[in-house]
Amino acid sequence: MRYLTFSAPGDPMARLGILEGDRVVTLPGSLADLIHAGKPGPRGREYGTDDIRWHAPIPRPSKNVFCVGRNYLTHIEEGARARGVEVKIPGAPVFFTKAPTAVTGPFDDIPWDRSVTNQVDWEAELGVVIGKTGRNIPKTAALDHVFGYTVINDVTARDVQNKHFQFFKGKTLDGFCPIGPVVVTPDEFGHPQGKHLSLKVNGVLKQNGNTRDMIFAVDEIIASLSHGMTLEAGDIIACGTPDGCGFGRTPPEFLQDGDIMETAIEGIGTMRNRIAAHS
Ligand code: MG
Repeated sequence: MRYLTFSAPGDPMARLGILEGDRVVTLPGSLADLIHAGKPGPRGREYGTDDIRWHAPIPRPSKNVFCVGRNYLTHIEEGARARGVEVKIPGAPVFFTKAPTAVTGPFDDIPWDRSVTNQVDWEAELGVVIGKTGRNIPKTAALDHVFGYTVINDVTARDVQNKHFQFFKGKTLDGFCPIGPVVVTPDEFGHPQGKHLSLKVNGVLKQNGNTRDMIFAVDEIIASLSHGMTLEAGDIIACGTPDGCGFGRTPPEFLQDGDIMETAIEGIGTMRNRIAAHS
């Protein structure tokens, strides 16, 4: 199944839907309701995908989006090059979070406040939506706790990140976490490692990676994060980005007003977000 959250023409209310080709079938409740209920309600009205407005699959998560930093060797290497430091491979997943206020839709503009940052950067990532609550989840059972997979762009204010040392502040600006366009269930998506992920800016390929290259795979991430901390149904995890980010390029490249990012993962789909300066 491919689930989405959308609003219909002339009605801003967010609804849950199933994507079937270019048709959207409405279901009762929200995606969070469905994750907790375990099975979808009766099918309702249909719309064409051209007629709807797409929202993030869980538009306002009940807690921060969990993120894994430094999870691809190529990304660690570009970071070390850019900062003139040694390549250090983490011995355990590096976790940080993005606030629910950062979450935005898969085709929404990314608001850029120039008084806050001048280094808006991109990070294409596989997103995991937890379906079954658990604590101390063993690696062998970890994928049974997954409701589905989605695309996340861990948009980053690189200057803010560097200024505050810790990841959080530069990663959590309003609208800096587009998610979508759909959540694909594991029966349809298959194994999460071995999926191509990419990011284009204005049609030019910048990131071109594969989830098989994660240092910590999805099952290890879930086992590690749930160690002593309850991971709840509806929680979202962004699993890290490969190389090709703007700050690691020579010379560094950052997003400008009107630039368009296309963030894609094989088997899920493509988000398209425009940078919109507002001051
Ligand atoms: Mg990231």
